[in-house]
Amino acid sequence: MTDIAQNLENIRKRMATAATRAGRDPGAVQLVAVSKRVPLEFIRAAVACGQTVFGENYLQEAEKKIAALDPGLAWHLIGHLQSNKARQAARLFDVVETVDSIKLARLLDNHGRELNRVMDVYVQVNVGDEPQKWGIRPEEAEGLLVGMKEFQYIRVKGFMAMPPFFDDPEMARPCFRRLRLLVEDCRAKGFWSQDEKIELSMGMSNDFEVAIEEGATLVRVGSALFGSRE
Ligand SMILES: *Cc1c(COP(=O)(O)O)cnc(C)c1O
Repeated sequence: MTDIAQNLENIRKRMATAATRAGRDPGAVQLVAVSKRVPLEFIRAAVACGQTVFGENYLQEAEKKIAALDPGLAWHLIGHLQSNKARQAARLFDVVETVDSIKLARLLDNHGRELNRVMDVYVQVNVGDEPQKWGIRPEEAEGLLVGMKEFQYIRVKGFMAMPPFFDDPEMARPCFRRLRLLVEDCRAKGFWSQDEKIELSMGMSNDFEVAIEEGATLVRVGSALFGSRE
């Protein structure tokens, strides 16, 4: 049996230690508990320990869970979103972390208008330059942000990345750094003011400490919390 309370406590401690090591405020880093393929009672156990933000990859699965659980929880879509499911995603999620095209952004904006609700989105960046991965190339970020300026029902509140998996988490460090520098570059170009908080969603079970050292404000942790999904 997975001891979720214990795992959560360990992860929170490791997050705080990594933040402190990097001279950052531990309170500036949030945990997104990745609950894909995790049974409801595990999620409830995490909620009982104060966890309120969850990440899901699949719409159908998320819809059932969101309906069954406390309405006060926040849900992030962290899996790839197909255009034909944008309406459902706009209805279900508090944040869509995986916007990677102007087409998808426009659909979410339209659905936001229908629902009369402004939605926070992150831009997914393929920081590892992997051909098979979702996300825009880093050099496309500025163009996408320019294109999204006209949308009134979605706000870009962050960037998200999923570097290649390495056994040694140090290997992912340059990817995390690249995402942070990209956000800083866009800020310098005037997309956000100096004091506006822009989220950096990066780091998973294997590498979240390195991601925090490189500036992550959200880490998405699944298996270290809920146990192996396989
Ligand atoms: C599954 C998943 C995670 C969590 O991965 P773990 O290695 O289990 O922590 C994080 N981000 C995304 C996009 C995922 O699909």
